[in-house]
Amino acid sequence: MRRLLPGHGASRGSALGRARVRNPHALQVAEQRIRSSEVEHELARLHTAVDAARTEMHDLRTRLHGALAREVGEFLELHALLLDDPELLQGLDELIRKGRYGADYALRLQRDRLAAVFEGMDDAYLRSRMDDLDHVIGRIHAHLHNRAADAEGLAGEILVAETVAPSELAQLQAQGVVAVVTSTGSALSHSAILARSLHMPLVVGASQALSRISDGDALIVDGDSGQVVVDPSARDLRHYRQRLKDAAREQRELDRLRGKPTRTRDGVDIALHANAESRTDVAQAHALGAAGIGLYRTEFLFLQRNALPDEDEQFRTYRDVVLGMSGRPVTIRTLDLGADKADRTGLALRGEDNPALGLRGVRLSLAHGEVFDTQLRAILRASGYGPVRVLVPMVAVREELLEVRKRLKRLTAQLRRGGHEVAAEVPMGAMIEVPAAAICVEHFIDLVDFLSVGTNDLVQYLLAADRNNDALGELYSPLRPALLRLLDTVLRTGREHGKQVTVCGEIAGDAAMAPILLALGLEHFSLHPSNMLELRRAIRGHDRAALLASAGKLLKARDRAGIEHWLKGKSQ
Ligand code: PEP
Ligand code: MG
Repeated sequence: MRRLLPGHGASRGSALGRARVRNPHALQVAEQRIRSSEVEHELARLHTAVDAARTEMHDLRTRLHGALAREVGEFLELHALLLDDPELLQGLDELIRKGRYGADYALRLQRDRLAAVFEGMDDAYLRSRMDDLDHVIGRIHAHLHNRAADAEGLAGEILVAETVAPSELAQLQAQGVVAVVTSTGSALSHSAILARSLHMPLVVGASQALSRISDGDALIVDGDSGQVVVDPSARDLRHYRQRLKDAAREQRELDRLRGKPTRTRDGVDIALHANAESRTDVAQAHALGAAGIGLYRTEFLFLQRNALPDEDEQFRTYRDVVLGMSGRPVTIRTLDLGADKADRTGLALRGEDNPALGLRGVRLSLAHGEVFDTQLRAILRASGYGPVRVLVPMVAVREELLEVRKRLKRLTAQLRRGGHEVAAEVPMGAMIEVPAAAICVEHFIDLVDFLSVGTNDLVQYLLAADRNNDALGELYSPLRPALLRLLDTVLRTGREHGKQVTVCGEIAGDAAMAPILLALGLEHFSLHPSNMLELRRAIRGHDRAALLASAGKLLKARDRAGIEHWLKGKSQ
């Protein structure tokens, strides 16, 4: 029967597909004993399932090409190794042979046993292997029931899960998943940012998804409104087709703005830079006429892999981004691992009590000096190929910037001595995403060449509201007077000192927020290329002088309703 489930749209676009439900407790198999006469049969069932999982992974590996093969390949290789692990396999055989358990229950017991071992490990890297073990066990379990875990089954499917990790999204897309619905999570999480970069429709916070969607249900997912329709009616299907047509028409209309300037009605040019994670983003940014890359998130190079990328690999990646932008400036952000961007390399700590307040961003880099130097050397080398700027994430205090500057100076001299070309100028900037840095921006602006405001984190730290916690409802929102006041401080200080200020949080890509940012005097927006034409259209419809003149009123708003009221008066 048709059901309508509400959620929050986190990555735009619509998809029609078949539900693949990933239950967080899929292995809550009830205790299952077998008779001695059934032991051989149960062992054979298990071994067939393990073989099928092995073949499945091998097939998947051979079907991947290009960058995906590199990104996902390592992950699959590790899973193949786990599948051959005698600890796992012999343990299972014993549970069936001696314990007289059915294969499903043996799988669960073995999973729980190994989980306890992993949990007790001191080494963060080894502890992080638990996710991989769960993947492998899930694959075997699926094959026990003659169901390929994903390789063959996922094409055209919509994953319904409690959460989805940034590290698995690319793999899901490679396997043919057309959309994702999660019962928790927020549109500002890194998974959501990555889904937008992959153009994969995503609905988060659909709290009833796991209880009201079953494997195999037909779903229509609307990544704009956040609605999920289960068992769509003929009318829903017609609407869905109409939406696809409307989206194509809207796209054609927006396409006319390609190559047009981003100029306000009163003739002021606004620079639109791109946020990029992948080569596709860079190509798109170039094609849409972005002023440059305003935020290249390097951590995605460190996710989905088990070893750190070395200097040469990083250098080639950054150099290709620089070459891809043909002379337009590329702002490369140093590693911002930690919190929800936990890696597989073991660099980011697991199990911190408060990861968002923990060892992340520049703190993590400074704690791993060699890893940081390797990255800085790779970035400096890339500057030989075109204009590069270095952006430091999560800056809280002046001392951090002094330390990064010192390193840049030392490494530049070292590289030049070694015969490498490093640009005469590699501007360094700070991300403003910690309230202390925003409040005291005046105290360290002398150390930087530019600033970039990361509103995604700034909102979370300012309101003490986790950007991934949907239980906080509307609290996490950029429509807060405290945020506007800080934005005003940072933009004003930047102007006074002649330093460029960019906003690179998700707010910068939201056409509906453009009047606020223009009113506060923002001239440099950095956003995902997929929103660029829409933002260009919005900016072209506004009169900047009139907005600047009403900034005073905006800053007097005492609550969200006040800001919304101001915004309403500015809508086109
Ligand atoms: C931000 O915090 O606004 C930002 C751009 O960085 P990230 O989303 O990668 O944390
Ligand atoms: Mg951030």
